[in-house]
Amino acid sequence: DTGKNNYQFYTRQLTSNAVQKMEVELDLRRAITEAPEELEVFYQPQINLVTGMVSSAEALVRWQHPDGKRIGPDEFIPAAENTGLIIPLGQHVLRQSCLDFLNWQREGLELERICVNVSAVQLLRSSFYEDTQAILQETGIPPEALELEVTETALMKDDETVAHVLAQLQDKGIQIAIDDFGTGYSSLGRLQSLPVDRLKIDRSFMPEDAQAHGDHALITSVLSLASNLNLEVVAEGVETEYQAELLIRNRCQLAQGYLYSPPLPNSAFVEWVRRHTE
Ligand code: C2E
Ligand code: CA
Ligand code: CA
Ligand code: CA
Repeated sequence: DTGKNNYQFYTRQLTSNAVQKMEVELDLRRAITEAPEELEVFYQPQINLVTGMVSSAEALVRWQHPDGKRIGPDEFIPAAENTGLIIPLGQHVLRQSCLDFLNWQREGLELERICVNVSAVQLLRSSFYEDTQAILQETGIPPEALELEVTETALMKDDETVAHVLAQLQDKGIQIAIDDFGTGYSSLGRLQSLPVDRLKIDRSFMPEDAQAHGDHALITSVLSLASNLNLEVVAEGVETEYQAELLIRNRCQLAQGYLYSPPLPNSAFVEWVRRHTE
């Protein structure tokens, strides 16, 4: 009965959302094409649980907006994927990550790898393999020092294309990790046939405390599955000593989370690693 008013309200709301979305997209296009330095790469250390040393780092992009706000990736990666801007953005993050990694080496930091997120939109582009190779050549990073993180859901998008490009990259020596493992529903058979070196267990699987029995069964079974398939495991979102000890007891190789460090700007990351290896 009040349908008319509601309808008007609804369309106005819809229009303003659409306009807002378009503004974000335009602004992101401006940043990527004219001011790529606004898209800053932060690094979060990954700890080897056997040696206690920093073995690698995950690159996580942030948008340092000129109006002063720092915008997290969850707020602009979807827009970048919808508009295709994820292609130049992904290349920018990959190039910057490789350059920063090489600088760490020059400064005496002994990290094994740099891990970079790639979205399904990038993987499904026919030129992804060539584009990635070009950045490796241009920067001079050894392929073994690069790990690409691909979400479990991206792996299920298009069996053939994605598996093929990952196999090509792995043939070249690039490492492949399945990100957010456990949140998709990939079959175990599929897992065995995929070109993968590492599993990153999603942080939703991290038990809060000793009372959370169900969670323990999940994490221990993922760890034994991975060990049977000869895959290393990175536990994400490790926030407490309790969680770290549980992981060590169950022979998880790597951990990442606020317990050790949040993602840091490059210079702060270098400082952190120095302090941690003294
Ligand atoms: P992700 O790959 O699963 O990254 C892990 C997220 O968990 C990061 O959020 C990280 O800051 C956060 N995190 C790390 N340790 C902890 C912890 O102990 N507790 C909690 N609660 N959270 C923790 P961030 O940086 O906001 O990134 C969100 C997502 O955005 C990433 O999830 C990834 O999917 C995407 N992303 C980030 N950078 C890139 C990029 O360069 N390219 C693409 N395609 N995606 C990216
Ligand atoms: Ca990731
Ligand atoms: Ca993840
Ligand atoms: Ca995630």
